[in-house]
Amino acid sequence: MNLKDHIRHVPDFPKPGILFYDISTLLAHADAWKEAVKQLHALIAPLKPDLLVGIESRGFLVAAPLALELGIGFVMVRKKGKLPGPTVRHSYALEYGEDTIEIQEAALRPGQRVVVLDDLLATGGTMTAAIELIRKVGGEVAATAYLIELSFLNGRKRLEALGVPSHSLMVYE
Ligand code: IMP
Repeated sequence: MNLKDHIRHVPDFPKPGILFYDISTLLAHADAWKEAVKQLHALIAPLKPDLLVGIESRGFLVAAPLALELGIGFVMVRKKGKLPGPTVRHSYALEYGEDTIEIQEAALRPGQRVVVLDDLLATGGTMTAAIELIRKVGGEVAATAYLIELSFLNGRKRLEALGVPSHSLMVYE
């Protein structure tokens, strides 16, 4: 099965000139989605993480079923103001302005090895912020993983500079 057959390309979304890679069509196809989770499992299981971390919101869709398959816990990184109780925040620059992400302080014990998941790696800005946040609470990021990687935006190199390897199922050059 070619997983790329299940990705829809939407021109001019969310802004004119942007080609959006839409995973809705993959999620809606039971066999293709099952295959994607199976392939991620094969990539991630050898790393033996203690926990998986998913980035709001499509990262949750990838991390949650994979955590069940691996028999380990799943932790959310969310936009600020959504998680109850004590949290740790990290702010990062966007093209225009800045954004803040959060994790619950008790979500990770210092030294725990995590793999961080998102649907797509583009410039690596989102994942860089997530890695910095996880390191703030003492977590060790063993790797990051994605359904889709836009390799021409060089996110992989940016994460390598932080010492973190990337795994992806579908690469667009
Ligand atoms: P980056 O921070 O530039 O690596 O962008 C990755 C983030 O933007 C991820 O959280 C993605 O969900 C989102 N993103 C960027 N482009 C796309 C796309 O074409 N399809 C789906 N999500 C995208």
